[in-house]
Amino acid sequence: MGLFDKIKHAFVKENEEEKNQAPLSEEESVTEDLEKPAEEAADSAETAKETVEESEERLAESSDEDSASQLPEATAKNLQEEADSIVSATEEQTQTAAETLAETVSTQAKYEKGLQKTRKTFKDRMNELFANFRSVDEEFFEEVEDTLIGADVGFETSMKIADELRQEVKIQNAKKPAAVQNVIIEKLVDLYEAEGENEVNEINLQPDGLTVLLFVGVNGTGKTTSIGKLAHQYKKEGKKVLMAAADTFRAGAIDQLVVWGDRAEVEVVRGKAGGDPAAVVFDAMTKAKAEQADVLLIDTAGRLQNKKNLMNELDKIKRVIQRENPTAPHEVLLVVDATTGQNAMNQAQQFKETTDVTGLVLTKLDGTAKGGIVLAIRNELHLPVKLVGLGEGINDLEIFDPNDFVMGLFKGLLKEE
Ligand code: GDP
Ligand code: MG
Repeated sequence: MGLFDKIKHAFVKENEEEKNQAPLSEEESVTEDLEKPAEEAADSAETAKETVEESEERLAESSDEDSASQLPEATAKNLQEEADSIVSATEEQTQTAAETLAETVSTQAKYEKGLQKTRKTFKDRMNELFANFRSVDEEFFEEVEDTLIGADVGFETSMKIADELRQEVKIQNAKKPAAVQNVIIEKLVDLYEAEGENEVNEINLQPDGLTVLLFVGVNGTGKTTSIGKLAHQYKKEGKKVLMAAADTFRAGAIDQLVVWGDRAEVEVVRGKAGGDPAAVVFDAMTKAKAEQADVLLIDTAGRLQNKKNLMNELDKIKRVIQRENPTAPHEVLLVVDATTGQNAMNQAQQFKETTDVTGLVLTKLDGTAKGGIVLAIRNELHLPVKLVGLGEGINDLEIFDPNDFVMGLFKGLLKEE
């Protein structure tokens, strides 16, 4: 099933469910979605409790039988042990299930919340577009272009969609606004899916040995914050993590990473402010080797004023890394601020020309209506988004899931035909 069909399927299913209920506002339906898994958790906890009770009863019964039939002591002991192990296994299962559920719920909640503004803007723009709808003529196609450009999906993408729409509307003979709107969404989703065919969104973690992740990007985009959050995640997973404060340009930058180090309980390799960033990276690589670290996260300075300087500095850092580990860095992650929209696109284009960026970290999605740039990034820059920032807290960084993202963005925009 294609991505659009999945979205449509989810939309139809939701619609059927809603028909049996009073309509909910978006906020209410989000809350309801989140309450459902919680109820399920309560149910499974109840089932687990019953299982424990049953095992206890079995244990009581078996000891009665024991005394009646005068079974040898060893058998009674075996039964007791078996019962104990059932009880503890059930307890463990319940706990794991509850933990998994808690994590899923919070990820969903963060995505829902993080995309709220973007979703609303898309919806408003679509409503505006169709408020003046008279017929599917050239003027309308031009309005579609403007609407999509305004929704930050990118210039080329908007042109492409409008062109495909011209064809498709004829083929499908779509005349009603609802049908036309659905074709627009279908085209957006299809194009996004096609462009991402060979895209790898996972971070290239080495199964054995050290993984080196180099973070680059303009000041203020969220490099240090994202590194701190990621260090916390990897640490929680039981990995041995190190961070390198190679943004030596400002004293504040080093201190800021040290604060994140304290929060994540991860050591920061640092040098003097104003010192050579490559020297800090060298120290960090040496330390990572000596201590058999799993992951090294490297923070860098983001001066873009002088492209040549930046390029030289990043090249030097890379050479130092490669001298110690020829397969590293395993990712060069460019951090861009989603709230800056087209500017983020321009930065990405420039960095792409300067250094071999392997993926993007898209930050501050929580504070913006410009989430549509995810489409522009893929369709026009051909760079995979790998991580998204959905808030300032230590847990507000998520692995990017393109299908979930597009589903979250477009499902609410489909219309009943
Ligand atoms: P750097 O200069 O690239 O290292 O950027 P910083 O990590 O210092 O971040 C700049 C500002 O952006 C800080 O105030 C961060 O708290 C904020 N920030 C970073 N990521 C996010 C995010 O995902 N959401 C929000 N709301 N703020 C963020
Ligand atoms: Mg920084």
